[in-house]
Amino acid sequence: MKLIVLDPGHGGQDPGAVFQQLREKDVNLDIAKRVRTYLEKEYECKVMMTREGDTTVSLEARSNLANSVKADYFCSIHHNAGGGTGFESYRFNGTNNYTSKSKTFQEIIHSEVINMVTGKYNRRDRGIKAANFHVLRETSMPSVLLEILFLDTSEDRALIQHESFKEDVSAAIGEGIAKALALPRKVTTNLYKVIAGSFKDKKNADSRLKFLQQKGIIALVVTTTLNGAPYFRVQAGAFKERQNAENQVKQIKKLGAEAFILVEATMPSAPTPNPVPTPPQPAPSGLPIEGQSVMKSEELDAFVKTVNPNAPLLGEYYLELGKEYSIRGDVAFAQAIHETNYFRFTGVVKPEQNNYAGIGATGGEVRGATFATQEEGVLAHLQHLYAYANRRPLPSSYPKVDPRFDLVTRGIAPGWFDLNGRWAVPGNQYGQLILKIYERMLEETITVKQEELEKMRDVLVEVRSNP
Ligand SMILES: [Zn+2]
Repeated sequence: MKLIVLDPGHGGQDPGAVFQQLREKDVNLDIAKRVRTYLEKEYECKVMMTREGDTTVSLEARSNLANSVKADYFCSIHHNAGGGTGFESYRFNGTNNYTSKSKTFQEIIHSEVINMVTGKYNRRDRGIKAANFHVLRETSMPSVLLEILFLDTSEDRALIQHESFKEDVSAAIGEGIAKALALPRKVTTNLYKVIAGSFKDKKNADSRLKFLQQKGIIALVVTTTLNGAPYFRVQAGAFKERQNAENQVKQIKKLGAEAFILVEATMPSAPTPNPVPTPPQPAPSGLPIEGQSVMKSEELDAFVKTVNPNAPLLGEYYLELGKEYSIRGDVAFAQAIHETNYFRFTGVVKPEQNNYAGIGATGGEVRGATFATQEEGVLAHLQHLYAYANRRPLPSSYPKVDPRFDLVTRGIAPGWFDLNGRWAVPGNQYGQLILKIYERMLEETITVKQEELEKMRDVLVEVRSNP
């Protein structure tokens, strides 16, 4: 990975140019930090700074640092003074091993910056120059020194103090460096999650959650797996900027609770160039997959036990997690019964896979996905149904565990009959078989839900007349 040393000119006892309240050392540091942020965010590279605060650093210390870490590039950032206007850049005016690279890199960066400075802000191009500056002469790698604009010229100064100009010029410098060094673009971005406690026992996580909510901090409990055992993390936000996550940690610690930052690399969302108009979502056929469950968790477990006394007790997971996603947990439970043959796993999927919906078991001997816990297996099942049932983004309360979520055409199957030929191929009766099981569950429940049962019989009428 390439290493770039950014050198904010001056600092500490050396303010650089000063005009009214504006000190060169401060604006140099400001721009250098923004360039670092830009490069780290957009490109695979390492960035070091010769100073990160308002400290005195000698010219020798600057070139020594770059030489000792064997930087691939050295970029010194300055602002001009003396009554001129515009942007200029410098390379070393003598000859060394890096002369030709320095020149090529300078030209690339210069043109990147000048396109913006002249094009968008109408400032002058003062040219691609060479000089005998210490940091250019003594660094044993290609190097450049940029003089951004003039502190003591009113139009330049207004821009130097303008937020969008600072962002633009920093991005242009970063972009120029990236082009010059051919840095690879980042394929992942970091997400800084604030974790306010990690618990083995969900009750402890819930009470921490409550505590935070009472203090006005939005948080949620997410399950994770550590060494095969489920853990419950209380997550109080996820931030794209580390600084924001650090602020949140500070606030939580002030309340007396522990908190730390978990850095997660995520794939950036793909750009959507020309949004294709989306056709209206089809109406559900059969019973809708989304909705509230009618049956109770004990009823689900009792029903399956009449056929398989050794079935795992999953009723609560189906109902609780179903509620989270507005999915019919009771009907999903019927689907799991159908897929696993009452959790006897007589097909290719084995019980230890915790895969209750045949996710990824695409036929033949393909055994499909494996989930760490029963809860995760149920979660994946419900997330897969969610993908079929609607086009909304997946709620962030739980991590995405369904490995095939993104392979589903979102919202293509809002009703159970719509799953025919989709969830199981071939299967022109797939949804009907699920609803028949669900009908039996209703019939055999002690507290029969008459209204729901009649609705189910209506839905299934067609099936019986066209077997
Ligand atoms: Zn300077």
